[in-house]
Amino acid sequence: MSTRGIRAKKIGVLAQQGAFSEHIALLRRLDVEAFPVRLAKELEGLDGLVIPGGESTTIGKLMKEYGLTEPVRGLAKEGFPILGTCAGMILLAKRVSGLNLEPLGAMDIEVKRSAFGRQVDSFETDLEIPVIGEPPFRGVFIRAPFIERAGDGVEILARLPNGVGVAARQGNMVALAFHPELTNDPRLHAYFLGIVHGGR
Ligand code: GLN
Repeated sequence: MSTRGIRAKKIGVLAQQGAFSEHIALLRRLDVEAFPVRLAKELEGLDGLVIPGGESTTIGKLMKEYGLTEPVRGLAKEGFPILGTCAGMILLAKRVSGLNLEPLGAMDIEVKRSAFGRQVDSFETDLEIPVIGEPPFRGVFIRAPFIERAGDGVEILARLPNGVGVAARQGNMVALAFHPELTNDPRLHAYFLGIVHGGR
């Protein structure tokens, strides 16, 4: 089937700080238009938004300074597709232990920040993620958060062997504790784009 005439989806990646260029590069491999977003007006005309990993306090503060906090909250309420990775997951949460800043409160999850402690600051592990199938996904965790509690409307997409949730979906929002943009595996971005295209 020809895709001519069908507008390519436009995905914005918050580019205040953190691993935004890696997300943009990976999304572009998947035939979507991906742009950095620094200003509120750049949210216009988008079909989806990525909040990358980085430093959640810095990203949160800069979002506020640039007038993005309320517009992004509003989009989340309207069911706009949003993917948050690592610091992005922290910012999407309703409650965060260890964050002295109001998160967006977009997803009914409580998250513990830098949850794995200093000894295991960063690690990689294979994750079974049924929504993307086999093989397992290589999870790159860098001072990662984990999900301490999730509300009824939240589907946990992946857990560590000890049962802790590290990926979740609520409506059109997806939160990942790890960094899929630092792997060469586009399956989770493709899963998110499926949501953007209106799939389940
Ligand atoms: N621990 C960081 C924070 O609280 C998140 C780390 C990351 O995004 N890799 O912002």
